[in-house]
Amino acid sequence: MVNNLPSYKKVLQVNENYARDNGKEPSAIKQLLMHHGPLTATEYYLRQADAMDDANYQAFLKDVDAYIKNDVPVQHLIGYEIFFGHPFKVNQDVLIPRFETEELVTHTLDYIDTFFSHKKLRIADIGTGSGCIGLTLKKESPELSLTCTDISKKALKVAAENAQALDVDATFLDGNMCEPLGGLDKFDIIVSNPPYLKDTEPIAPIVKDHEPSEALYGGVDGLVYYRQLFNTVEPILNTPYMIALEHGYDTAKPIRKLIKKTLKDVTIVQKKDMQGRDRMTFVFKK
Ligand code: GLN
Repeated sequence: MVNNLPSYKKVLQVNENYARDNGKEPSAIKQLLMHHGPLTATEYYLRQADAMDDANYQAFLKDVDAYIKNDVPVQHLIGYEIFFGHPFKVNQDVLIPRFETEELVTHTLDYIDTFFSHKKLRIADIGTGSGCIGLTLKKESPELSLTCTDISKKALKVAAENAQALDVDATFLDGNMCEPLGGLDKFDIIVSNPPYLKDTEPIAPIVKDHEPSEALYGGVDGLVYYRQLFNTVEPILNTPYMIALEHGYDTAKPIRKLIKKTLKDVTIVQKKDMQGRDRMTFVFKK
């Protein structure tokens, strides 16, 4: 039988060009092709001359159009993002995990090894969203005890599903920032990637139209949630403690100032991300 369906290779080439011509990412097309193939990257290289199944091809084309014409994030089309090697379910209710946040996790794990390896740690991930930070820490360090909070119940549902899929135990509490953590046993480590865009900061439609604004914006100066955190965090923390935070590339200085104003006798370490932008602040109390 003659098969007139295009090969995987041809499908990829044509649609990568379609993306380029429209100012979109060709890499997104490859992700969609792997998803609908369905193929792993290795299978693609072995089978690139093979014809693509028609039903899968049609479903792929539909998603390519959703991405290119309607700015739907690829992660929403395929339903997940890989974070620290694990697939995290995502939808409109949570922020899509970003590469920068993997760096926050890496540094946090390093600091846990260096300063906290002696005891059973209690960690809280505040504003957990998809759960990517806290659940990854627990996956890497299974002996720690993890509590995740978020003001969005819908986000907590996604995080709980991710915990189950990753086979990770965690407690999920709804409420703003530190509020749900009062009255519990105290924590040793707080991690958070709170909303930090300035309210007036322009963002691309692919983000603005598809990711929850409550996970993105942090008030006129982008610092609302850091202020709330520093003002309320000490009563829920043991000593020694660490607070590990992601933040905007232009707020390292004001965040340092805020910490000096609100937290006594702490050491502050600020780090850049791989793009060389100020991105993370770690606060230690001995
Ligand atoms: N903590 C989650 C993440 O890093 C959610 C962050 C947010 O919603 N601002 O992806």
